[in-house]
Amino acid sequence: MNQFLQDNSIIIIGILILIIFLLMGAMIFILFRLLTTPKDNVPVTKELVVEKPILNPMFTNLKRSETPIVERFYCIHHTEAPSVASCLICEEVFCASCLVEHESMHFCKEHFRIFANCKWKQITDVRTTPDTPEEGLYIYNFKREIWLDKNIPTFVMTHYKINIENDFIESFIQLNVREEDVEKLTNEILKYRALD
Ligand SMILES: [Zn+2]
Ligand SMILES: [Zn+2]
Repeated sequence: MNQFLQDNSIIIIGILILIIFLLMGAMIFILFRLLTTPKDNVPVTKELVVEKPILNPMFTNLKRSETPIVERFYCIHHTEAPSVASCLICEEVFCASCLVEHESMHFCKEHFRIFANCKWKQITDVRTTPDTPEEGLYIYNFKREIWLDKNIPTFVMTHYKINIENDFIESFIQLNVREEDVEKLTNEILKYRALD
């Protein structure tokens, strides 16, 4: 009787050990498969070239002032009307009814007449980058000075290009002057630049 139980238990233990080995084998196999399966199904994240929103040139040159200039938020003709944009020539701010929009440029009514009646030539094309934002500053200062001192109308246009390779926006500061002023102002801005 004892002998019979002993024989049986040996067989049972043998079967159990076999089952354990089979399970271990299966686990090793599953583990191996998990580790070696090529990860083809994982979506590869591609670098997307997202077009960046281009700031309205009207607002890129605004500097944060320490003291808010309240009156600048209202049209210079209508003190109750909120200003929507500034004239490219005189740089004063105006309400919607005082402005003329032309190809996304804004002028006050008086200066739109000048704009429409003159031939314009671009005399600068200064490239600025986020590392050199001040490169074109002298153009804005020059423009302001000749307007305030000599009443010569000019306007600055900013063209933006996205430099995808280096991931930044470069801008080109273009001063537009009347055809009859081209020679004089080209010389003057060169001198102005040298003094800057
Ligand atoms: Zn104006
Ligand atoms: Zn107005």
